[in-house]
Amino acid sequence: MHVLLVEDDPRITSFLAKGLQAEGYVATVAATAAEAAAVIDGRRDELDLVLLDLGLPDGSGEDVLRHIRRRDPQLPVIILTARGDMGDKIRGLDLGANDYMTKPFAFEELLARIRATLRSGAQPTTAELVVGDLRFDLQSKVAWRGGRRIDLAPREWALLELFMRNPTHVLSRTRILNQVWDLGFDPGSNVVDVYVGYLRRKINRPGLDPLIQTVRGAGYRLLAP
Ligand code: CA
Repeated sequence: MHVLLVEDDPRITSFLAKGLQAEGYVATVAATAAEAAAVIDGRRDELDLVLLDLGLPDGSGEDVLRHIRRRDPQLPVIILTARGDMGDKIRGLDLGANDYMTKPFAFEELLARIRATLRSGAQPTTAELVVGDLRFDLQSKVAWRGGRRIDLAPREWALLELFMRNPTHVLSRTRILNQVWDLGFDPGSNVVDVYVGYLRRKINRPGLDPLIQTVRGAGYRLLAP
Protein backbone atom coordinates (compact mmCIF):
# COMPACT_ATOMS: atom_id res chain seq x y z
CA MET A 1 0.00 0.00 0.00
CA HIS A 2 1.41 3.34 -1.05
CA VAL A 3 0.63 6.40 1.09
CA LEU A 4 1.30 9.98 0.01
CA LEU A 5 2.07 12.05 3.08
CA VAL A 6 1.51 15.78 2.50
CA GLU A 7 2.95 17.56 5.52
CA ASP A 8 5.43 20.38 5.99
CA ASP A 9 6.52 19.74 9.58
CA PRO A 10 9.70 17.63 9.27
CA ARG A 11 9.30 16.08 12.72
CA ILE A 12 5.79 14.84 11.94
CA THR A 13 6.86 13.72 8.46
CA SER A 14 9.79 11.75 9.79
CA PHE A 15 7.75 10.16 12.59
CA LEU A 16 4.85 9.20 10.32
CA ALA A 17 6.99 8.00 7.40
CA LYS A 18 9.04 5.74 9.69
CA GLY A 19 5.94 4.46 11.43
CA LEU A 20 4.15 3.73 8.14
CA GLN A 21 7.19 1.99 6.67
CA ALA A 22 7.47 -0.15 9.82
CA GLU A 23 3.87 -1.23 9.20
CA GLY A 24 4.67 -2.25 5.63
CA TYR A 25 3.37 0.84 3.82
CA VAL A 26 5.36 2.63 1.14
CA ALA A 27 5.40 6.34 2.05
CA THR A 28 6.09 9.23 -0.32
CA VAL A 29 6.46 12.64 1.29
CA ALA A 30 5.42 16.02 -0.17
CA ALA A 31 6.23 19.08 1.94
CA THR A 32 4.32 21.66 -0.11
CA ALA A 33 1.05 21.88 -2.03
CA ALA A 34 3.03 22.14 -5.28
CA GLU A 35 4.99 18.97 -4.54
CA ALA A 36 1.79 17.17 -3.63
CA ALA A 37 0.16 18.24 -6.91
CA ALA A 38 3.19 17.03 -8.85
CA VAL A 39 3.06 13.59 -7.20
CA ILE A 40 -0.69 13.35 -7.76
CA ASP A 41 -0.34 14.30 -11.43
CA GLY A 42 2.62 12.05 -12.12
CA ARG A 43 2.05 9.00 -9.93
CA ARG A 44 -1.65 8.92 -9.09
CA ASP A 45 -2.06 5.32 -10.20
CA GLU A 46 0.52 4.16 -7.64
CA LEU A 47 -1.20 5.82 -4.71
CA ASP A 48 -3.61 4.04 -2.38
CA LEU A 49 -4.23 6.78 0.18
CA VAL A 50 -3.30 10.40 0.96
CA LEU A 51 -2.65 11.86 4.41
CA LEU A 52 -3.13 15.58 3.99
CA ASP A 53 -2.12 18.45 6.27
CA LEU A 54 -4.30 21.54 5.75
CA GLY A 55 -1.70 24.19 6.67
CA LEU A 56 0.98 24.09 3.97
CA PRO A 57 3.64 26.75 3.29
CA ASP A 58 2.49 27.51 -0.25
CA GLY A 59 -1.25 27.11 0.11
CA SER A 60 -4.06 25.27 1.73
CA GLY A 61 -4.46 21.51 1.88
CA GLU A 62 -8.02 22.22 0.74
CA ASP A 63 -6.65 23.22 -2.66
CA VAL A 64 -4.66 19.99 -2.76
CA LEU A 65 -7.85 18.11 -1.93
CA ARG A 66 -9.72 19.82 -4.77
CA HIS A 67 -6.84 18.94 -7.08
CA ILE A 68 -7.04 15.30 -5.98
CA ARG A 69 -10.82 15.15 -6.41
CA ARG A 70 -10.66 16.60 -9.92
CA ARG A 71 -8.28 13.87 -10.94
CA ASP A 72 -9.50 10.98 -8.85
CA PRO A 73 -12.85 11.02 -7.06
CA GLN A 74 -12.00 7.67 -5.45
CA LEU A 75 -8.54 8.13 -3.96
CA PRO A 76 -8.96 7.97 -0.15
CA VAL A 77 -7.88 11.11 1.70
CA ILE A 78 -7.50 11.54 5.45
CA ILE A 79 -6.99 15.12 6.57
CA LEU A 80 -4.46 15.74 9.35
CA THR A 81 -4.56 19.11 10.95
CA ALA A 82 -3.82 21.01 14.11
CA ARG A 83 -7.03 22.94 13.61
CA GLY A 84 -9.83 21.43 15.62
CA ASP A 85 -12.38 23.85 14.31
CA MET A 86 -15.66 22.23 13.28
CA GLY A 87 -15.91 24.47 10.19
CA ASP A 88 -12.61 23.13 8.83
CA LYS A 89 -13.74 19.56 9.42
CA ILE A 90 -17.05 20.05 7.68
CA ARG A 91 -15.42 21.87 4.75
CA GLY A 92 -12.82 19.11 4.39
CA LEU A 93 -15.48 16.42 4.39
CA ASP A 94 -17.66 18.40 1.97
CA LEU A 95 -14.70 18.64 -0.38
CA GLY A 96 -14.54 14.89 -0.42
CA ALA A 97 -12.12 13.87 2.34
CA ASN A 98 -12.87 10.41 3.71
CA ASP A 99 -11.82 11.05 7.28
CA TYR A 100 -10.28 13.64 9.53
CA MET A 101 -7.73 13.57 12.37
CA THR A 102 -6.81 16.43 14.65
CA LYS A 103 -3.19 16.69 15.77
CA PRO A 104 -1.85 15.54 18.12
CA PHE A 105 -3.12 12.02 17.60
CA ALA A 106 -1.97 8.55 18.57
CA PHE A 107 -0.22 6.75 15.71
CA GLU A 108 -2.21 3.58 16.50
CA GLU A 109 -5.43 5.49 15.91
CA LEU A 110 -4.15 6.80 12.59
CA LEU A 111 -3.29 3.25 11.51
CA ALA A 112 -6.77 2.08 12.50
CA ARG A 113 -8.35 4.90 10.48
CA ILE A 114 -6.16 4.12 7.47
CA ARG A 115 -7.23 0.48 7.61
CA ALA A 116 -10.89 1.43 8.01
CA THR A 117 -10.71 3.92 5.12
CA LEU A 118 -9.04 1.40 2.80
CA ARG A 119 -11.58 -1.27 3.84
CA SER A 120 -14.58 0.94 3.19
CA GLY A 121 -13.97 0.64 -0.54
CA ALA A 122 -12.67 4.17 -0.68
CA GLN A 123 -16.03 5.80 -1.30
CA PRO A 124 -15.69 9.54 -0.95
CA THR A 125 -17.96 11.04 1.69
CA THR A 126 -19.63 13.20 -0.90
CA ALA A 127 -21.24 10.93 -3.48
CA GLU A 128 -23.66 13.45 -4.92
CA LEU A 129 -23.85 17.21 -5.27
CA VAL A 130 -27.25 18.89 -5.15
CA VAL A 131 -28.03 22.51 -6.03
CA GLY A 132 -31.71 23.37 -6.32
CA ASP A 133 -33.31 20.82 -8.66
CA LEU A 134 -29.97 19.84 -10.18
CA ARG A 135 -28.24 16.67 -8.96
CA PHE A 136 -24.83 15.40 -10.01
CA ASP A 137 -23.63 11.91 -9.16
CA LEU A 138 -19.86 12.10 -8.57
CA GLN A 139 -19.41 8.38 -9.19
CA SER A 140 -21.24 7.92 -12.46
CA LYS A 141 -20.71 11.55 -13.61
CA VAL A 142 -24.35 11.74 -14.63
CA ALA A 143 -26.48 14.78 -13.79
CA TRP A 144 -30.24 14.87 -13.33
CA ARG A 145 -32.61 17.76 -13.62
CA GLY A 146 -36.39 17.77 -13.52
CA GLY A 147 -36.38 13.95 -13.66
CA ARG A 148 -34.29 13.92 -16.84
CA ARG A 149 -30.91 12.35 -17.13
CA ILE A 150 -28.11 14.56 -18.51
CA ASP A 151 -25.08 12.83 -19.97
CA LEU A 152 -21.90 14.88 -19.85
CA ALA A 153 -18.51 14.79 -21.55
CA PRO A 154 -15.45 14.79 -19.24
CA ARG A 155 -14.74 18.55 -19.39
CA GLU A 156 -18.43 19.24 -18.94
CA TRP A 157 -18.66 17.20 -15.76
CA ALA A 158 -15.48 18.79 -14.39
CA LEU A 159 -17.01 22.19 -15.11
CA LEU A 160 -20.37 21.27 -13.59
CA GLU A 161 -18.65 19.90 -10.48
CA LEU A 162 -16.73 23.17 -10.07
CA PHE A 163 -19.96 25.19 -10.36
CA MET A 164 -21.85 22.90 -7.98
CA ARG A 165 -19.10 23.01 -5.37
CA ASN A 166 -19.29 26.82 -5.49
CA PRO A 167 -22.97 27.65 -5.92
CA THR A 168 -23.82 31.37 -6.19
CA HIS A 169 -20.09 32.26 -6.40
CA VAL A 170 -18.92 34.19 -9.43
CA LEU A 171 -16.21 32.08 -11.05
CA SER A 172 -13.83 33.97 -13.29
CA ARG A 173 -12.76 32.54 -16.65
CA THR A 174 -9.19 32.32 -15.32
CA ARG A 175 -10.25 30.30 -12.31
CA ILE A 176 -12.37 27.98 -14.42
CA LEU A 177 -9.52 27.57 -16.90
CA ASN A 178 -7.04 26.76 -14.13
CA GLN A 179 -9.32 24.32 -12.36
CA VAL A 180 -10.83 22.48 -15.28
CA TRP A 181 -8.13 22.72 -17.95
CA ASP A 182 -5.02 22.94 -15.75
CA LEU A 183 -2.44 25.67 -15.56
CA GLY A 184 -0.61 26.53 -18.73
CA PHE A 185 -3.63 26.56 -21.02
CA ASP A 186 -3.66 29.63 -23.26
CA PRO A 187 -5.52 32.28 -21.21
CA GLY A 188 -6.65 33.96 -24.42
CA SER A 189 -8.58 30.87 -25.44
CA ASN A 190 -12.37 30.99 -25.51
CA VAL A 191 -12.62 27.34 -24.45
CA VAL A 192 -14.32 28.30 -21.16
CA ASP A 193 -17.11 30.19 -22.94
CA VAL A 194 -17.55 27.39 -25.44
CA TYR A 195 -17.88 24.72 -22.73
CA VAL A 196 -20.09 26.83 -20.48
CA GLY A 197 -22.30 27.14 -23.57
CA TYR A 198 -22.39 23.34 -24.01
CA LEU A 199 -23.15 22.82 -20.33
CA ARG A 200 -25.82 25.49 -20.34
CA ARG A 201 -27.62 23.89 -23.26
CA LYS A 202 -27.63 20.59 -21.41
CA ILE A 203 -28.82 21.74 -17.98
CA ASN A 204 -31.14 24.58 -19.00
CA ARG A 205 -34.37 22.85 -20.01
CA PRO A 206 -37.44 24.47 -21.51
CA GLY A 207 -39.83 25.37 -18.71
CA LEU A 208 -37.12 25.31 -16.03
CA ASP A 209 -35.22 28.28 -14.62
CA PRO A 210 -31.86 28.94 -16.30
CA LEU A 211 -29.15 28.00 -13.81
CA ILE A 212 -25.90 29.36 -15.23
CA GLN A 213 -25.75 33.13 -15.30
CA THR A 214 -23.20 35.23 -17.17
CA VAL A 215 -21.82 37.97 -14.94
CA ARG A 216 -20.65 40.62 -17.35
CA GLY A 217 -16.92 41.32 -17.08
CA ALA A 218 -16.50 38.85 -14.23
CA GLY A 219 -17.35 35.32 -15.27
CA TYR A 220 -20.13 32.86 -14.58
CA ARG A 221 -22.28 31.89 -11.65
CA LEU A 222 -24.44 28.88 -10.83
CA LEU A 223 -27.69 30.12 -9.33
CA ALA A 224 -29.13 28.24 -6.36
CA PRO A 225 -32.87 28.85 -6.51
CA1 CA B 1 1.43 22.30 8.50
